[in-house]
Amino acid sequence: MHLERFKTSLETQVARDMTMVSVRPYSQALDRLRASGLRPTRQRLALARLLFDGCDRHLSAEQLHTEALGSNIRVSLATVYNTLHQFTAAGLLREIVVDAGRSYFDTNVSDHHHFFFEKSGKLTDIPAEMVGLTRIPEAPDGLKISRVEVIVRVEG
Ligand SMILES: [Zn+2]
Repeated sequence: MHLERFKTSLETQVARDMTMVSVRPYSQALDRLRASGLRPTRQRLALARLLFDGCDRHLSAEQLHTEALGSNIRVSLATVYNTLHQFTAAGLLREIVVDAGRSYFDTNVSDHHHFFFEKSGKLTDIPAEMVGLTRIPEAPDGLKISRVEVIVRVEG
């Protein structure tokens, strides 16, 4: 009896928490879009909600497309690609190119590096302070180095 009541109250609590979780990314996504100057279209907002769910993520366009379809967001892979590139140009994402024709989009745009797991295709973060660079060449004439990224490849 007591246990039953406890379970019910726990379920209510969980349901409440889940509602909060699903509400938060919505306003967060909207805020991010507005701050970046991108018009919050329905599709951009829907994809932004998937991307900016509160944790740092590394996603390929194909992975995001699959997630979108799973969440009943009807969007083509081409639109997902375009949106990801618009978000990247607006500074909301960072593109990590691991191979020719293979890239991931990172929701963490702060300075950091990556481990790339060659077998699973997974990317994980390496904090910026964990990598020390002792020599970096001068940028070619008239140019400025915008960023130095290190991808440490592991056979896993
Ligand atoms: Zn990252």
